[in-house]
Amino acid sequence: MMRSGLVAKSYPIYKKVAHEKLSLFRSTQPHASKHIIRAFSSVLTPHEDDPNRSTPVRRSIQSNFNPTSEHGQLRDVVRSFTKEHIEPQANEFNKREEFNKPLFQSLNTDLRLTKLTLENEYCGVEMDATAVAIVHEEMSYSDPAFCLSYLAHEVLFCNNLGRNGNDVQKRKWFVEKDGYIGGMCMSEPNAGTDVLGMITNARQSQDGNGWILNGQKMWITNGTTDGKTTGDVYLVYAKTGEGRLDISQFIVEKEMKGFNLGQQIKDKLGMRASPTAELVFENVFVPNENLVGQVNAGSICMMRNLEIERIALAAMAVGIARRCIDEMISHSSQRKAFGQEIRQFGQIQKMVAESYAEYMSGKTYLYTVANSLDLNSAGNGLDADGVKLYCAQMSKNVADRAIQVMGGYGYVGEYNVERLWRDAKLLEIGGGTNESHHKNMVRDLCRGGLLE
Ligand SMILES: Cc1cc2nc3c(=O)[nH]c(=O)nc-3n(C[C@H](O)[C@H](O)[C@H](O)COP(=O)(O)OP(=O)(O)OC[C@H]3O[C@@H](n4cnc5c(N)ncnc54)[C@H](O)[C@@H]3O)c2cc1C
Repeated sequence: MMRSGLVAKSYPIYKKVAHEKLSLFRSTQPHASKHIIRAFSSVLTPHEDDPNRSTPVRRSIQSNFNPTSEHGQLRDVVRSFTKEHIEPQANEFNKREEFNKPLFQSLNTDLRLTKLTLENEYCGVEMDATAVAIVHEEMSYSDPAFCLSYLAHEVLFCNNLGRNGNDVQKRKWFVEKDGYIGGMCMSEPNAGTDVLGMITNARQSQDGNGWILNGQKMWITNGTTDGKTTGDVYLVYAKTGEGRLDISQFIVEKEMKGFNLGQQIKDKLGMRASPTAELVFENVFVPNENLVGQVNAGSICMMRNLEIERIALAAMAVGIARRCIDEMISHSSQRKAFGQEIRQFGQIQKMVAESYAEYMSGKTYLYTVANSLDLNSAGNGLDADGVKLYCAQMSKNVADRAIQVMGGYGYVGEYNVERLWRDAKLLEIGGGTNESHHKNMVRDLCRGGLLE
């Protein structure tokens, strides 16, 4: 069963920080919704285990997952929003392969979650990598596909532009414009794992006022939201020189001439409520002001943003695993066979207990990495790869056991775990395949000095 219940207990060490944040948040976000203000206001009640079962070990675990009361409150807000609004629509929208745009917009209008990691001066909530993990974990408990679209917007577009863009670009996209849905274009039909082998290219226009962009991008989350036209705006990586690392990043907008939807990619195994598309660029004129960062410096932005993307994807895996364990516990406590609840059988106990231990291992690794990851830093690849590698496989295995524990019920959509199993598979491919993590991690480990 889901644990719930807040403990009216003060953590003085975090209280001041939370109050300061709240005041700052109120002054910069006069129109912030009642949900988030209420959440940040109740700084005395961090999310916790059932108080009757709280032990020093459990409290220590909790403080790793919610290191400040502000994180605990964020978790509570997202958890209750997920329960109330995301859970009820998940099965239907995934079945219909339909993106729930109004619900997505309410993440912005009701919760400001679409600007989670942006600085206050750009209307952001200025939260950290741990907050990113919390939001992705909580949403994926109910609907990983909806969460994947959120990831593409907040992590791949907003956070990336927030870290690498200039003041004019950030004002335009975070202060002046609102309500759009963004994404990021890195992969191509013939370049996925070997992303530096991309052939989409941009050359300076003859008048020097901009760039002419040509190529194709594949598998783009939020590439379309209506199935007919491109989505609103993307960060697009393109070759701007002869060297393998000569890649630059551009903001490409829906209205630009020559920028078109190639196709919406339908009938995916999982993540069906998250739209995926191929995008085509034919002599698209991109003005100089849409170049993000320096010419030929895009690969650094890409690698840095991949680190937080992998943390977010690992958090999605953790959310999937938690839901599957909840479903296993609930079903095995109700279902009877041979005159007893099936949870009395050792083989069922093995599946539940091993799933819990693996989930806790993954979650602990996740929050250990997230709690110390500075969003402005780079060079955290080993553990960003490592945590995604572990959690993706863990969640698929846990979802697989959940289906097994639930028997025929686990095999049909109404009981959720088959959808979560299908969604979990994407986490072994998107944002880097398992094999790419193996390759990167062994490269880093062989440099030496990283084994504690
Ligand atoms: C639903 C979905 C959403 C996505 N969203 C986005 C998005 O928003 N933006 C974006 O840019 N991309 C996106 N992607 C693309 C995703 O990142 C790529 O699919 C992924 O990087 C793998 O690339 P690929 O599909 O071309 O496979 P390939 O790179 O062709 O890999 C095929 C197989 O070869 C293996 N392989 C490749 N190289 C090596 C090697 N050196 N050693 C060992 N094995 C290797 C791979 O591990 C894999 O098993 C999305 C993909 C999906 C399915």
